[in-house]
Amino acid sequence: MSVTLDLTAAERERILAKAAHFSPPPHILPDGRRDLVGLSREELLAEVEAFGEKPFRAKQLWHWIYHQGVREFSAMSNIAKPLQEKLAERFVIGRPDVATDQLSKDETRKFLFRFRDHEAVETVYIPDRQEDRGAVCLSSQVGCTLSCRFCHTGTQRLARNLSAAEIVGQFMAARDAYGEWPSPKGETPRLLSTIVLMGMGEPLYNYENVAKAMKIIMDGEGIALSRRRITLSTSGVVPMMDRAGDELGVNLAVSLHAVTDELRDELVPLNRKYPIKELIAACRRYPSASNARRITFEYIMLKGLNDSEADARELVRLIAGLPAKVNLIPFNPWPGSNYEPSTPEALRKFAAIVMQAGYASPIRTPRGQDILAACGQLKSAVEQAAG
Ligand code: SF4
Repeated sequence: MSVTLDLTAAERERILAKAAHFSPPPHILPDGRRDLVGLSREELLAEVEAFGEKPFRAKQLWHWIYHQGVREFSAMSNIAKPLQEKLAERFVIGRPDVATDQLSKDETRKFLFRFRDHEAVETVYIPDRQEDRGAVCLSSQVGCTLSCRFCHTGTQRLARNLSAAEIVGQFMAARDAYGEWPSPKGETPRLLSTIVLMGMGEPLYNYENVAKAMKIIMDGEGIALSRRRITLSTSGVVPMMDRAGDELGVNLAVSLHAVTDELRDELVPLNRKYPIKELIAACRRYPSASNARRITFEYIMLKGLNDSEADARELVRLIAGLPAKVNLIPFNPWPGSNYEPSTPEALRKFAAIVMQAGYASPIRTPRGQDILAACGQLKSAVEQAAG
């Protein structure tokens, strides 16, 4: 095995070990009952068997929890009442509390979800303007360690990682809010049709819980959201990108935001650890990238900083040969930020150069800016209050 792989494996172990320091509290209530949400298939089976029931019960519970979205065992019509009551004595089907629920004038919706230890994260639903569908932007950590300069979450220190239950719970609570669970009469529309792991935190610094949550959400007998409808966004945790690609096979988005190490070191401090050359190399290795499933490069457009025509040409040179597209995101101001979005002229010229090179480069329209729900604006209200 080459030195590089040894180093990468050791680095990966270091990252996973560090994540353990910020692990979430176990999902056992003060009264001893255990939350079934967030358990893997195997863990649910083990719980059911330890409870003295046959394995098929685990399949039944999985269906009711993740396909039907029920919150009470009493709603599980193919389980006898005495057993429903026994289950309710030992288990719960949890959800995060909805601390706040804000609706933007453009229909973007932001939830502040609070967990049992009172930590909280923001989750955003961005409805598609044309069709009856939309994306749910999930958070993976309470705060973040990476302090990207343009990001509001980056000003919130990392309190802890979210558990698989808390990551899945955001999506399930959003489905509750939109009444998106199948009715006994038949299937309901899929308004919450895609997931983007672009909320608070760096998903690859909480890989184990994120991976577990996505496997639950992708399971065909539950929520059954295809891996093609899930995008994981990273600021460039290179050693974990390979693993995510191999194990999850979801779409990849990369927070690039600069084309020189000098500027990216400033905007995305993680770059000092994994510079652009290593990051792009990891993108070239990403297994499920193809013309049908392009890697998305996120590029926040900051006036006079990273938005010149020379920057656009260098960006095209960096990603040459990659199946990619570039999301141009005019900077979304937040309280205390000191950047400005690029001018419409600079945006237009930048996009034209990238498109002429054969890469789609949509200029993203800010969504939910009036409720601080746009890209880079999230920060748990608890912290906002603390200032
Ligand atoms: S952009 Fe992502 S990784 Fe960077 S500070 Fe914000 S939440 Fe953290």
